[in-house]
Amino acid sequence: MRVTVLGAGTMGHGIAQVAALAGNDVTMRDIDDAILEDGVDSIESTLQGGVERGKVGEDEKEATLGRIETTTDLADAVAEADLVVEAVPEDIDLKRDTFEEIEDAAPDDAILASNTSSLSVTEIVSVLDDPSRAIGLHFFNPVHIMDLVEIVVAEQTSEATVAFAEEFVEEIEKAPVTVRDSAGFASSRLGVAIGVEAIRMLETGVAGPRAIDRAMELGYNHPMGPIELTDVVGLDVRLDILEYLQAELGERFRPPQLLRRKVRAGKLGKKTGEGFYVWEDGEIVGVSGDWGRGE
Ligand code: NAD
Repeated sequence: MRVTVLGAGTMGHGIAQVAALAGNDVTMRDIDDAILEDGVDSIESTLQGGVERGKVGEDEKEATLGRIETTTDLADAVAEADLVVEAVPEDIDLKRDTFEEIEDAAPDDAILASNTSSLSVTEIVSVLDDPSRAIGLHFFNPVHIMDLVEIVVAEQTSEATVAFAEEFVEEIEKAPVTVRDSAGFASSRLGVAIGVEAIRMLETGVAGPRAIDRAMELGYNHPMGPIELTDVVGLDVRLDILEYLQAELGERFRPPQLLRRKVRAGKLGKKTGEGFYVWEDGEIVGVSGDWGRGE
């Protein structure tokens, strides 16, 4: 099968890698050659890491790299695709334009997928003449590590397209979870619901960040507590998602004032060195602020 991935960024190169590792021929497309080269370099170094940990054979690494072609020409990229996975930036107009271009150049029977993490797949694919062959394939970061792929069924998606997507996800050794297209799908909606409640608990002085995180880590076996996860994802990113979910799903997703204040202060989490925690060299070194009931 030929899989075309549009975008060679964080997600695009990861999707290209797992598709090629499973034996598919892959074409990766981005808007300039330097980005494509970076994408291929990242794939090579991840595969090399796999070789060093004994998870990938040297031959398998070379064969995987040999199955990946790159191009900056979108029409060429999709011309022989059986499956196209779009992983361009999270912008509805860009995605809709991209799907129109794909439909003009791809075979009529190719399946067309979007890796959007939050936009309405139904709205993206409504630009197509035949949206029944379109679907969401929501991979998680880092793609080569994370098992889950959320399959997002748009209003227009046919059952044959769902079956194709489920088979593809299993073939690349990921675990499919199939959900109807709705705001936040399953994963973001549930993850953000826990995150926003945790921030409200901080705001009302129930406990400090470390206590809340440990409660979920030790009580529910979450690998990372909701406050730390918010710092890792970025407080600004979480705020954007909450505003969107509030508009779509209602007041239970209203962003807490505490989150807004932090974002306005530029305390965006790990990437700026401070969010709910204080970070140095990618590690937590303390708690930001005084939470009344200790850390
Ligand atoms: P990214 O910015 O790392 O990569 C996007 C790539 O698309 C860039 O290399 C950019 O040059 C390229 N691009 C821009 N315009 C293009 C065009 N017209 N045609 C082709 N390529 C174009 O972004 P990302 O984090 O890989 O996100 C891509 C998509 O995946 C988004 O929809 C995002 O919401 C979704 N997603 C991201 C994550 C994550 O954790 N980063 C997780 C799940 C889903």
